[in-house]
Amino acid sequence: MGTASVTVRSKKKLATKFVSKERRRNVYENVIAQFNRAADLMKLDPGVRKILGTTMNEVVVHFPVRMDDGRIEVFTGYRVQHNNALGPFKGGLRFHPAVDIDEVRALATWMTWKSAIVNIPFGGAKGGIQIDPREYSFSELERITRRFTFALGNTIGPEYDIPAPDVNTNPQIMAWILDTYQSMMPATERQRCLHVVTGKPIESGGSVGRDKATGQGVVFLIRQWAKDHNFDLNGATFIVQGFGNVGSWAARLLKPFGAKLLAVEDVTGAIKNDSGIDPDDLTDYVKVHGGVRGYQKAKPIGHEEFLKTQADIFIPAALENQITGETASMLNVKLIAEGANGPTDPEGDKILIRRGIDVLPDVLCNSGGVIVSYFEWLQNKRSEFWELQEVDCKLYKKIVSAYERVRDTAQKYSVDWRTAAYIVALSRLEKVYKERGIFP
Ligand code: NAD
Repeated sequence: MGTASVTVRSKKKLATKFVSKERRRNVYENVIAQFNRAADLMKLDPGVRKILGTTMNEVVVHFPVRMDDGRIEVFTGYRVQHNNALGPFKGGLRFHPAVDIDEVRALATWMTWKSAIVNIPFGGAKGGIQIDPREYSFSELERITRRFTFALGNTIGPEYDIPAPDVNTNPQIMAWILDTYQSMMPATERQRCLHVVTGKPIESGGSVGRDKATGQGVVFLIRQWAKDHNFDLNGATFIVQGFGNVGSWAARLLKPFGAKLLAVEDVTGAIKNDSGIDPDDLTDYVKVHGGVRGYQKAKPIGHEEFLKTQADIFIPAALENQITGETASMLNVKLIAEGANGPTDPEGDKILIRRGIDVLPDVLCNSGGVIVSYFEWLQNKRSEFWELQEVDCKLYKKIVSAYERVRDTAQKYSVDWRTAAYIVALSRLEKVYKERGIFP
């Protein structure tokens, strides 16, 4: 079979099986709507508004890879660099059938805001490949990852643009990217580029605490919110959507505070147990079975029943556009702690505000990942290895001070926390552009 027919076959499969057109159409529009709301309120400088309202660089690569059975398939990969005024471009790589240019633009833009809010010297970028990794063998995934890295070439670099894990990518994939990137360098340069990716395995230069960092950040902020609201986490209930890196870590780290996990949804289905689900036990189950479906210590439920579950806290930790004009009114929670990027669309936001449901917005709430990625990058540059306690302590300080900045801004402008988070980010970027001016 030739390359062309293979590509057509796989594209047809994507269209029918996985890709939600609704989600693909809206996600970048969501970012722009959120951006415009904040820019209007704070009266962002019109020139800066034009610069930040668009991405800087967009790279699309089509690259061939030989499959295990000898066929050649051509894949499409993306890297979008939104802004680097505050430091090198930074952001994850996603392997998912719904990855497209608009989704990557949206995710790259959110990264710029996130780094600015938590005050780390990075810009924003994101990338990915339009595949369902479950359809490929381990060695095929390795070749896809390596060939993608080769195709990107100098689009990435340790002082220029630094990828990290995101949906369906992990430390193993980061190790392959590092190794491929190093192999493309002259021998004398190879040891100087350990920091070309973060989220690496510890032995290959990763940081302790990076694996759990995003979930840890979510839990630090839920605790801070509970403190501010005089809310006791002991005996509190919560539900989680997405039980991968972010969702499972957030659930496991909430457990010691006495919070009870009532329901979980992932790509394989949803489950519920009113007496509580043990997050550690479920994590072990998901590692073996690839999803929550079939977990015997909870009953299977539908999507709507999952969303309507009465609980104190909802942690969306899967994909975008889950809390929308259609679904936001179904939720029965006090707080939404956004582990995922973009889980709430602007219509959903309006309903949550009207209903008085608090939201810890994604650009603040899931920033633990990029914060500890920054720590990993620093450790690599300095040839240092920090202890877990040091990483956690520094993460706590960074994320809680960002929380306080967003809280104070929300009070100052009398706005919701998402808009406040944007105002924090945009004010910082505006200041930098005003100080430096525009070349020439
Ligand atoms: P992951 O691949 O480890 O897990 C993704 C989870 O989402 C899986 O449990 C999967 O089954 C579930 N899922 C996928 N499609 C779903 C659907 N349609 N309905 C319900 N569940 C679905 O990915 P992750 O790294 O945990 O990322 C999750 C989210 O968190 C993404 O939005 C990502 O951008 C964001 N995020 C991740 C990090 C990080 O450090 N990994 C940092 C910041 C933000």
